[in-house]
Parts: sequence; C-alpha cells; structure tokens
Amino acid sequence: MFENLNEKITKTGKAVEGKTKKIAESAKLSYKVSEEKRALEQLFTALGKACYKAESENSESVYADSCAEINAKITKIEEMKAQIRAVKGLVVCDNCGAEVSIENDYCGKCGSKLNKPAPVEEPVEEPQTEPLDEVDDAVSAEESEAEVEKVEEIDENKDE
Ligand SMILES: [Zn+2]
Repeated sequence: MFENLNEKITKTGKAVEGKTKKIAESAKLSYKVSEEKRALEQLFTALGKACYKAESENSESVYADSCAEINAKITKIEEMKAQIRAVKGLVVCDNCGAEVSIENDYCGKCGSKLNKPAPVEEPVEEPQTEPLDEVDDAVSAEESEAEVEKVEEIDENKDE
C-alpha cells in the first residue's frame, strides 16, 4: 500500500516537474518573442523614417499622404513645444538648441547671444478693422513660418 502511495507521489512529482519545466520553457520563449517583436518594431520605425526622408520632398510619391500626415504632426508638436516654452518662460538657443530662461541674454550652455522672439501679441489687442489684403499677407507669413519650423524639425530627426 505504501509502495503504491510512494509510486503515486513520485509520479505526481514528476508530472509537476514536467509541467513546471514546460511553463518555464514557454515563458522563456514568450520573452524571446516579445524581444524579437520589439526589434521588429524598431526596424519598421527605422524603415519608415528612411522612407519619409527619401519621399517627403516628392509630391508624386505613393507615400505623399502619409508624409503629409507626418508633417502635420511634426508642425503640431513644434507648436505645442513652443507653447510649453512660452508657459515656462523658456527660449531655444539658436546655436546649441538648449532651452534657457527668457530672462537670460546669453545661453547658459554654449554662451551664444540669445535671439529672443518678439513678445506674443494677445489676439484681443489685434485691430479688428484690418483691410482684407493685409489679412491675406499675415496668413501667408504665418504659413511660411510654419514651413521653416517643419524643416528644422526634420533636421533634428536626422541626428537621432
Ligand atoms: Zn546655446
């Protein structure tokens, strides 16, 4: 009777051992799968960035829509980053790209003279009686500014 019991325990023990091994093995493999997936995502991202770099200037590209979407996001991010800087009272150094207090005249990182933006005009202060042609000029000036920001952002991305 005891022998039977011992046998039973041993069998159960071996079964548990086998099950534990299988669980450990599958966990190990699952980890490897997620590692490979991460690497795959990085490869896709790198490919996407390379494709964007090659295609973003080509309006005839089959990727023109995606590139336009990306450009819109980049512009939006730049605008929001500028808003954050405005809230924090920071300016970007033209020379080294460091964010430094607007109170400073020189960059604390590289010592370059800071090119401070003109104080932002409150929309309320804008005259409401502007002739139409002047409004059009103002709009196109804003657009070309956004264009410059976009190019700068792409340059930043190249360094990554
Ligand atoms: Zn600097």
